[in-house]
Amino acid sequence: MSTLPYEIVVGLEVHLQLKTRTKMFCACPNRYGAEPNTLTCPVCTGQPGALPVANREAFSLAMRVGLALNATIARSTKFDRKNYFYPDLPKGYQISQFDQPITADGSLRLSSGKVIGIVRAHLEEDAGKSSHTESGTGSLVDLNRCGVPLLEIVSAPDMRSSAEAIEYLDALKLLLRHVEASDCDMEKGSLRCDVNVSIRPPGSSVFGQRVEIKNLNSFRSAGRAIDAEAARHHALITAGGAVEAETRLWDDEKGVTRLMRKKEASQDYRYFPDPDLPPHHISEEWINDVRKTLPELPEQRMARYQRDFGLSEYDAGVLVQDKKVAVYFEECAGLAGDAKAAANWIGADLFGWMNENKQDLDASCITPARLAALIRLQKDGTLNVPSARKIFAAMIGNAQDPKDLVATLGLGQVNDRDAIMEIVRKALAANPKAVADLRAGKQKAAGAIVGFVMKESQGRANPALVNELILEILPTL
Ligand code: ADP
Ligand code: MG
Ligand code: ZN
Repeated sequence: MSTLPYEIVVGLEVHLQLKTRTKMFCACPNRYGAEPNTLTCPVCTGQPGALPVANREAFSLAMRVGLALNATIARSTKFDRKNYFYPDLPKGYQISQFDQPITADGSLRLSSGKVIGIVRAHLEEDAGKSSHTESGTGSLVDLNRCGVPLLEIVSAPDMRSSAEAIEYLDALKLLLRHVEASDCDMEKGSLRCDVNVSIRPPGSSVFGQRVEIKNLNSFRSAGRAIDAEAARHHALITAGGAVEAETRLWDDEKGVTRLMRKKEASQDYRYFPDPDLPPHHISEEWINDVRKTLPELPEQRMARYQRDFGLSEYDAGVLVQDKKVAVYFEECAGLAGDAKAAANWIGADLFGWMNENKQDLDASCITPARLAALIRLQKDGTLNVPSARKIFAAMIGNAQDPKDLVATLGLGQVNDRDAIMEIVRKALAANPKAVADLRAGKQKAAGAIVGFVMKESQGRANPALVNELILEILPTL
């Protein structure tokens, strides 16, 4: 490979805490933020003889995710023990699913249109949480998280850059939020991801050795870790070395990955079917019941916006990125009677303001109804485009009715023919050259006249009317 360019290959494993009322195998509440070790019982702390019972709600949520990912739902599924020791894993094993995951063979479409394969998504239980005291003298274990239901979503190695991996994570999070399977809050750990990275010469059809990286606490870190890890592989190979199967940790501060352990193989976990849990059968009826409760998904919503509202793929894509925005748009479009105008105002002006000020939609105090009122003022000719923009700016942080703002700011469009004609005459008198050009058939010369009129009227003249009047008066000059 030497110094030749390389292609990055990425596959992602996302761990999702499901939003159930109780834990995966016991009746303890599934709640974040309680006092340490207050949400535990003999089952989730692994006391001898305690028996797990699978949570039906977790199955339903996993099925929702599976269906939203166009995946197959297993009619028969079972749980296996994944054996390993860790201080926050009191049983000495994690209940997971080895060879019969609840759902498999799905796909996810990115905003670029590329489709990423979903290999499988299986149910398992979360472990507890260790924290290490600042003095370094000890570690504390909180078992509240033990037994919280997790869905591990495993992608195919279909991504080819860090940017594409982030696109995948964005699309996945959007979908998971839509189906209300999880809070997807990375800060609270309800969505966590591990990245698998390898490199190969561009155009190669075989994969390079992959390395798994854990400990990524934001999508941005995931992207940085992928690029740093790929560069490390490249340097290794260039120096004549080889990439080894490893599990590494990301150090966000230093921007490097560090060895955690040599990669374990599945036989190291001594998986075997959990004898305390029977195989579970999922009926066609149950699958259909879950399917019926699924909301409209981003992709379907996008298709509807293009079909029913005549929006471009780009505009529709922008609006469905956030459910709140989509709901806002639909309400505004309905009230304004003009979906395209609503999409334009939201995509350009409202988002512009939100990005610039790092603010949320609600903070603007521009409700769908107020934006719709502004659009109607534009449509009925009260406001031209520049004036509407001025009113929009004034509406931010001001609850006054847009109509009243027009009066307050004196921005109403001038549609009075006589008043405009007067300014047009003035403009013609002041621009003899433009008049001569117009007479000679040079249409472009009208621009100077219109510009003069707009300036003279402080941007309030109706531009269409100005053009009309110029054409009307010209033959009489
Ligand atoms: P493990 O249990 O070892 O983590 P999984 O099957 O759960 O294995 O996950 C493997 C992940 O690694 C998948 O997301 C897959 O897409 C990804 N992967 C497999 N081969 C490669 C490769 N050569 N380069 C990058 N990612 C890979
Ligand atoms: Mg895995
Ligand atoms: Zn419990």
